[in-house]
Amino acid sequence: MAPPSSAYETFKLFINGETVDAVSGKTFASLNPYTGQPWATIADGGPEDIDIAVRAARAAFEGEWGAKSGFERAAVMRNIADAISANAERLALLEVRDSGKLMREMIGQLKGLGTWYTYYAGLADKLEGKTVPALNPQTYFGYTLRQPVGVVGAITPWNSPLLLLTFKLAPLLAAGCTCVVKPSEHSPASTVAFAQILTEAGLPPGVLNVVTGWDRSTGEALAAHQGVDKVAFTGSTATGAKVAQAAVANINKVTLELGGKSPQIVFPDADLDAAANGVIAGVFAATGQTCMAGSRLIVHESVKDELVAKVVERANAIKQGDPTEAGTEMGPVANRPQYEKVLGFLAGAKAEGATIACGGEPNADLGGLFIRPTVVLADPEKTIVREEVFGPVLAAYTFTDEDEAVALANDTPYGLAGAVWTKDVHRAHRVAAAVRAGTIWINAYRVVTPNMPFGGFGLSGIGRENGTDAVDEYLENKSVLVEL
Ligand code: NAD
Repeated sequence: MAPPSSAYETFKLFINGETVDAVSGKTFASLNPYTGQPWATIADGGPEDIDIAVRAARAAFEGEWGAKSGFERAAVMRNIADAISANAERLALLEVRDSGKLMREMIGQLKGLGTWYTYYAGLADKLEGKTVPALNPQTYFGYTLRQPVGVVGAITPWNSPLLLLTFKLAPLLAAGCTCVVKPSEHSPASTVAFAQILTEAGLPPGVLNVVTGWDRSTGEALAAHQGVDKVAFTGSTATGAKVAQAAVANINKVTLELGGKSPQIVFPDADLDAAANGVIAGVFAATGQTCMAGSRLIVHESVKDELVAKVVERANAIKQGDPTEAGTEMGPVANRPQYEKVLGFLAGAKAEGATIACGGEPNADLGGLFIRPTVVLADPEKTIVREEVFGPVLAAYTFTDEDEAVALANDTPYGLAGAVWTKDVHRAHRVAAAVRAGTIWINAYRVVTPNMPFGGFGLSGIGRENGTDAVDEYLENKSVLVEL
């Protein structure tokens, strides 16, 4: 792979191990949200390109990749892990240019990404079926086989393209599946480079294909393609519902990782400095543009003033600026539509009578797409408390007792994540069990590892990524019965 470059770059589609132009010959520009300038030309693939890519993935599934044993797939996956680490800086720079995320955070994230491939490589050679005792042991013998689902259509959002692709790709490779991925039109570059790096590391042609495209018809074509056996989607709840309908029309399996409005519950006995740090990291990482953002602070009334003061002090101290500089703590919002959406939520909150404790406006010193880290004091029924903002905005409100805290935390159609801050071990576990969400952290936030399942209750999704069970999302369970 080429070293990090500051030059204008071109990214084509990646199909069957080769970079190719879109059938239409069209391209679109990818904008750097920090500079506001185009920095790359991206191939504008459409339904025809999706069709070609799905055929390539099918051929690889029925050919070289499908013929490999679990041991052989594991060996390739370990090479992939090494290649990702070796190229972490180059890939990080692409994500920073596309999305405005912090360079030092992205290098850390990408250096850690190989762990997903080594973790699932460890499962690839252990996909065992079981023998099943027969009703009448004299007449037949039964056993099960776990076989790959086939071709997976993966659709990813703009906020963490390679991490969220990896949540799908590592287990599907372990299972023996192949993949066509459609990255977001707002951050497509890193996925193309990633596929090239993985192919150079030994992934056979056609196992991972990338079709970029500006128009939503590209994603629609993948979700609805009859040559796809399973759709794995990460993105907004509204789009997820459309993707699920398209997949189900083909009676395809579907995994949905969707939006969230995750609570951070702080009890009066909590270490308030640790809680304030956790709340800040929980909501403001990646400029608030993470599905698991802890965007609702539900704090006991007796410590509300003290905790909010600590959070506001820390929020006001966050250094915004150039995402590639080591000292920068928060970059811009990733694209203009999202910037306008966040400002719309802030205007709505003010109109609904919420109190802006800090921020609440663009950062005029920097211009561009910068919005100041914002803390809003609002009643639980306000829009800013109820809807996913996907920006640097925390909504804070109070509770009086444990039952009310749990009821407020659960008063949302989402259920992706949450945290409880307390020194009372009994209460911590009671509340962790009672909050309806896929992940609860106790006195922590935002710890995501390959070995712990991740996914949502309610509108936050269907299925789980990460953990040993995630491989099952890409496997069929077959019964074999032998007459004796
Ligand atoms: P989005 O739903 O707008 O787009 C996601 C992807 O779907 C993009 O690649 C887009 O091009 C594609 N798409 C759009 N319309 C489509 C259609 N009709 N059919 C098929 N594909 C279509 O989401 P976004 O704005 O890119 O990402 C932000 C959202 O993603 C937030 O809601 C966030 O919470 C969610 N998210 C969830 C997780 C998770 O793991 N649960 C992780 C990150 C982001």
